[in-house]
This record gives sequence, C-alpha cells and structure tokens, in this order.
Amino acid sequence: MSPNIERVVRAPRGTERSCQSWAAEAAMRMLMNNLDPEVAEDPAKLVVYGGRGRAARSWAAFDAIVRTLKRMAPDETLLVQSGKPVGVVRTHEDAPRVLIANSNLVPHWATQAHFDALEAQGLMMFGQMTAGSWIYIGTQGILQGTYETFAECGRKHFGGTLAGQLCVTAGCGGMGGAQPLAITLAGGTCLIAEVDPARLQRRLEDRYLDEVAPSLDAAIDRARELAAAKEARSVGVRATAIQLLERLLEREVKVDVLTDQTSAHDPLEGYLPEEMTLADAAMLRKSDPDAYVAESSACMARHVRAMLALQERGAVTFDYGNNLRQRAKDHGVENAFGFPGFVPAYIREQFCLGRGPFRWVALSGDPKDIFATDKALLDAFPVAEGGYNQRLHDWILGCHANPEALLAGDLDACAPRFGWQGLPARICWFGLGERDRAGLIFNQMVRDGRVSAPLVIGRDHLDCGSVASPNRETEGMKDGTDAVSDWALLNAMVNVASGASWVSFHHGGGVGIGFSQHAGQVIVADGSAAAGHRLARVLTNDPMMGVFRHVDAGYETAEGGADDRAVDIPMRAR
Ligand code: NAD
Repeated sequence: MSPNIERVVRAPRGTERSCQSWAAEAAMRMLMNNLDPEVAEDPAKLVVYGGRGRAARSWAAFDAIVRTLKRMAPDETLLVQSGKPVGVVRTHEDAPRVLIANSNLVPHWATQAHFDALEAQGLMMFGQMTAGSWIYIGTQGILQGTYETFAECGRKHFGGTLAGQLCVTAGCGGMGGAQPLAITLAGGTCLIAEVDPARLQRRLEDRYLDEVAPSLDAAIDRARELAAAKEARSVGVRATAIQLLERLLEREVKVDVLTDQTSAHDPLEGYLPEEMTLADAAMLRKSDPDAYVAESSACMARHVRAMLALQERGAVTFDYGNNLRQRAKDHGVENAFGFPGFVPAYIREQFCLGRGPFRWVALSGDPKDIFATDKALLDAFPVAEGGYNQRLHDWILGCHANPEALLAGDLDACAPRFGWQGLPARICWFGLGERDRAGLIFNQMVRDGRVSAPLVIGRDHLDCGSVASPNRETEGMKDGTDAVSDWALLNAMVNVASGASWVSFHHGGGVGIGFSQHAGQVIVADGSAAAGHRLARVLTNDPMMGVFRHVDAGYETAEGGADDRAVDIPMRAR
C-alpha cells in the first residue's frame, strides 16, 4: 500500500491567493485539482486518467512544485521535466509561468520498453495529455468531444439521431466513462463492458451511467429492450470487452454502433486480459511484465477480430483513439485497420476550421460562476448567427437539469445535469474567431465581478493544430503527413510566444509511447488588461495552427476557413 494512500489533495477555492500571480496560483490549483479524489482515477499514485497518466512524478516532486509556485516572482518561470520541477528562470510577466515537457524521448529510443525502464528508475513520468499538463477536469472534459463524435455518427449514418440504435463499447474509466452519457445525450442506447466494478459504481454515482445489469445476458436483453423502445439510457456490465462482443456474436444480436475505450494504448497497465482477476493481473504485472504484455496483446487481437466480425454484420465501427488497432495489427490481425479512427470519420472537418475542445474552470469553486459563463456564451453566440451555434446551445442547455432557469438568467435556480468533479468546469468546442471572443468575454466578467474569481481557460492536447498522432488525430491526412510532428512543436512555440500561462509538450498521449507528440496551453483570465492582451493572442494563434495545418495538407474546408478569417499563409496556392 502506498504510504500516501491517506493523502487527500484538493485545490483551494476563492479569491485569496497564496502565489504572487494569478497565473502561478492557477497552475498550483489546477495541479491540485487534477489530484482531487473526485477528479483523479487513482490519486494515491498521482494517476489522473488514461492508464498511468500522472500529474507529478512523485509526492516529493508535487510538494516541490507547489512550494516553488508559491515563492516565484511574477516574472519567473518554472521548468517541469516529466513531472519534476527542475529549474526556475527569470523571464517576464507576459511569459508563461510554467513550461512543461513530459515523457519525451528521442525517436529512435521512443519505445514503451525504454520508457518503462526509465520510469521504473524514477527518471520519467507518463503525462498523458491533460494529466501532466494540469488541465484535466474529470470526465466532463471528454464528454463534449465524445458527444460531438456520437452525435456526428447519428447525423452521418442514422438520419440525424442515434435514437433506437444499440451502441456498444467498453472501458468506463476516466475518459471512457463519458461514453454512456455522451451516447444518451446523442439519443442512443448504450451497452458498456467494464472489468472493474468500482469504475462502474463511480460512473453511476456521477450520473454518467444509468444502470448496471447483474449479468452479461441480462445486460444485453435490457439494452435491446431499451433500444427497441428508443430509450436514451445506458447499461453497464461487469465483463471484459471480449466477453461482451463474443456473446453478442453468439446470440446474433444486431449492433448498430461499435467502439472501445479500454486503455489499450498501455498493454502493461491499461488492458485486462481474459480469465484474469484484477488481483492476478496486478501480480503478473509485477512478477512478469513481458508475459502480461504478451497476454494482453493477444487479447487485443481477439478483441479487434470480434469488432471486425460485428462490423461485417452491419455495426458502424470506429476506433476511439486508444491505439487498439495497432496493438492487434502488431499481433497478427492483418486487417486491424479495417475500421476507421474517429477523427477521419467524424472530427476532421471541424479541425479544418480551427475547431476543437475549449474548457474553462472557475477558481472560485462556485458553480454559479460556470452558470454565468454558460449564459454569457448563449447570449454572445446566438443560434440565429448560424455556424455551430445551434450545437453549442444544445450542448450547454443539455448540461443543465433546469435549462429554463439558465435561459431566463435565473442563476440561483440553475442545477447541473451531471455531477461536478473538483472545481466547477465547463467544456465546449470552439474554433478560430470564437475562442478569443469567449476568452475576452470571460476576462470582462472577472473584471466586472459577474464571476467571483479568475477563470482558467485551456484545452485538451487532442486539438486541431497541436498534435501529431498517425493512428488518431492525424490519421489519413490528405497529403500523407500523418507522422510529421513539426506542427505540434510549432504549436507549443506559438503558445509560449503568445503568452499562455503554462505550455506543455508531451509524447505518447492517447495512443502510447512512440505513437504521438502533442502540445497544450492554458491561459488565465484574471480580469486585468494585460491578461486581455494575452488571451486575445493565445486564443487566436492557438486555433489558427489548426487552419495552417489543414490548409497545408490540402483540405478545402480549411481553405474556406482561412479565407473567412483572413489567415496569413505565405505560400498558399491561392
Ligand atoms: P482509464 O485507464 O481511466 O480507463 C480504462 C478502463 O478500461 C478501466 O476502467 C479498465 O478497468 C477498463 N478495462 C481494461 N481492460 C478492459 C477489458 N479487457 N475489458 C473491459 N474493460 C477494460 O483510461 P481512460 O482515461 O478512460 O482512457 C481510455 C482510453 O481512451 C485510453 O487509451 C486513452 O488514451 C483513450 N483516450 C481517447 C480519447 C478520445 O477522445 N478518443 C481521449 C482520451 C483518452
């Protein structure tokens, strides 16, 4: 048992700062918020989500980061290397307060085995995407992206909605736990397998999952019944993905939509092989990691074969960004890439417009601040303006248990539809020309007291111009540049130059070591004029990277977006 098992970290709330600038204070609170037991999947081990995605390398490193942020002058910058604070440099007040590099290895050595060996010696840490960059906001963080994906799937394949469709998946963890709620928000019926009963229980408590069935067959029967009645509800079952899919095949159940979010990106820690209890798995991982990886990889091959068989029988099947297909292919499934990834299938068009995830957090800890920002966005981005505004309204109103109160501006009567985790937060998708508008509105709200403390604005590394990940965000790029990671590096540099509050560059997020490189930025709206200038720059230049990236790769939608926004591209063909 970890000696820190009893240690509970929770971010301070309110307007009292213990750091010398709001940017440093925000970084400290967001690091702590990542490890809040309501937020993190396994806080005692500093694991936030996504297999072993950590917020800091050790508790000693965590303490040193907090101590340093508290003492740093407003013109100093802390350097974090794989979750450990390694230096402080004097910069200037418009520069980031923290620069973070997590899990990076020179490409030739960028293997899981090399990483694992370094990690075992305490020399590295896996930062995932938002774990080591301190902007994870719990399962809601992925909820909207997951909703966008399933809603688009409904529009593309089922005449506009998933109503009446049986959507099957597995993995009810930090991110995967968003699937049942996202599917039901998109109108569908969800059947989800998860091996860990504690994870199912947690999603039930957070109201991301509606019910848990007592057995595999009971779960299948219940989900079929709900789908036939077009009921948007979710059913969880304690089972492996393979058990569920093979049983569906045996019973010849017609599956309409099929995907998976087990942590297949991490064959050692993220995927439970067949016929192994959680306790057996923990022992084998320690005693013979190679044997464990061989077992889990063989199971992933079997898992993908079952997915291909269900696809053959008509299920709209897609990979949900966990690198499952690659694992299966490496283990002999020749046609593992026979179904597409979710980005080329449903998301790329939005990336072309610089659209992607945009999240904000109320440092006050007061949910009413989030309700106030919700209302401000509904007013500033009216449905009548067209574009994606209808989706924005549907999404924000869908986050409320009492949407009428929000529409009426009665913030006291507002209530969330799903539980908050840690500091109250919201997410939505915004593009170039929208993110900066929203950021400046928020800054003004902080200044004039409509929200009671500064807001933190950030995003996932899964974004339009910040990531190179050939099996996920950059799968099947039009010009074949899937593996070119110059773009992710340029994104990090643009955010540093523009004055984000903290900037991160990571390797391996989403799909595992060797398979991706990606950058993140977070910026604080503290109501000051200086923050306003930084917000305008960062929240314009960051999504603009998505337009540059997709114009360069030859996407027409991106060309259109670049024309609309007068984006400056020196060597553009037209
Ligand atoms: P997590 O580690 O918190 O959860 C994974 C879950 O899968 C756990 O609850 C685990 O018990 C369960 N599981 C493991 N093996 C299983 C099996 N054989 N059958 C059924 N359940 C099993 O990870 P997470 O944060 O939920 O992320 C899941 C995956 O999705 C990761 O690979 C992550 O990189 C990827 N991801 C995708 C996106 C996206 O937008 N597509 C975003 C973030 C993460």
